[in-house]
Amino acid sequence: MNRHLARIVLVCSLVLGAASGTQAYLKLGFLTPNGVIGLRWTRPVEYFVTNRDSQDVTASQLQAAVGRAFASWTSVPHVGATHAFRGFSSAEPFVSDGVSVIGFRARPELERTLAAATFEIDEVTGQILESDIFFNTAFRWSVASAGQTERFDLESVGLHEVGHLLGLGHSGLGETELRETGGRRVLGKRAVMFPIAYPAGNIEDRTLEADDRAAIADVYGGSAAQRETGTIRGRVTLGGAGIFGAHVTAFNTRTGDLIGGFTLTTNGDFVIASLSPGVYVVRVEPLDDADIDSFFDEEPVVTVNFRPTYYPMLVTVPRGGSGPAVTIAVSAK
Ligand SMILES: [Zn+2]
Repeated sequence: MNRHLARIVLVCSLVLGAASGTQAYLKLGFLTPNGVIGLRWTRPVEYFVTNRDSQDVTASQLQAAVGRAFASWTSVPHVGATHAFRGFSSAEPFVSDGVSVIGFRARPELERTLAAATFEIDEVTGQILESDIFFNTAFRWSVASAGQTERFDLESVGLHEVGHLLGLGHSGLGETELRETGGRRVLGKRAVMFPIAYPAGNIEDRTLEADDRAAIADVYGGSAAQRETGTIRGRVTLGGAGIFGAHVTAFNTRTGDLIGGFTLTTNGDFVIASLSPGVYVVRVEPLDDADIDSFFDEEPVVTVNFRPTYYPMLVTVPRGGSGPAVTIAVSAK
């Protein structure tokens, strides 16, 4: 869940397929000569909601759904981020005006994009200064409590986008299959922050998963989270050399929680933080269930030509620290 890498796409694609690549790329973390700087808010998140209704949802229904999404993220244990709705506004999302605005926009040309988020950041400190979200009225939306056939659930998609607004990138914890008509179909996922949405009518993404909770606690949990949780550190190698962009997962043998991360250096180093203390099964797999550019910029090159591999021993995560580093050697496909 360590999503601190250079540029990460902030676009949610539909089940019909992956993002077309024309949309905004956003930095959720960026590499500097001194290492990776992650993005975060250092003051309360103050936001406005556009004062227009869409054909399906009123402005106040949108505000309520967004408010529930914020509450889901900020109620995760140890998370120190706070949020405040500042009112309805005629300001538009995706306009750089120093004000965070969430609202509907008609973007029919973005035919696979349900919603997206943008940021203004301080590139020295990583502070987020402004973040906007738009929901695309080219799709039908619902706020019905049980969901609605053939309409996308606003709170579910909003929870994903608010995760971006708070500084999270995409998770790799999903399984998909290629569709004959192009793009991918979600078979299942274990993170709201997986880059491909569930089909219309589905409301499962109203609930954060363990991977999402670990991600937000990693960014906003502070010293309390560091005291109460632990970390798995290690390295993934292929033919003795480190590989970049390998997807590493940690499965808690007691709770069944699944938390993911990536190797984020060309040396193959990874860190999976904010784990409940316990015993974990660690596995490495190539990032092949969504477009690579949903996760990483073009450089460095992501290695995907290797076999999924289990670390041969169970890994114990202590409270407030990490065990010995694990090295996982994978073999070429
Ligand atoms: Zn996204």
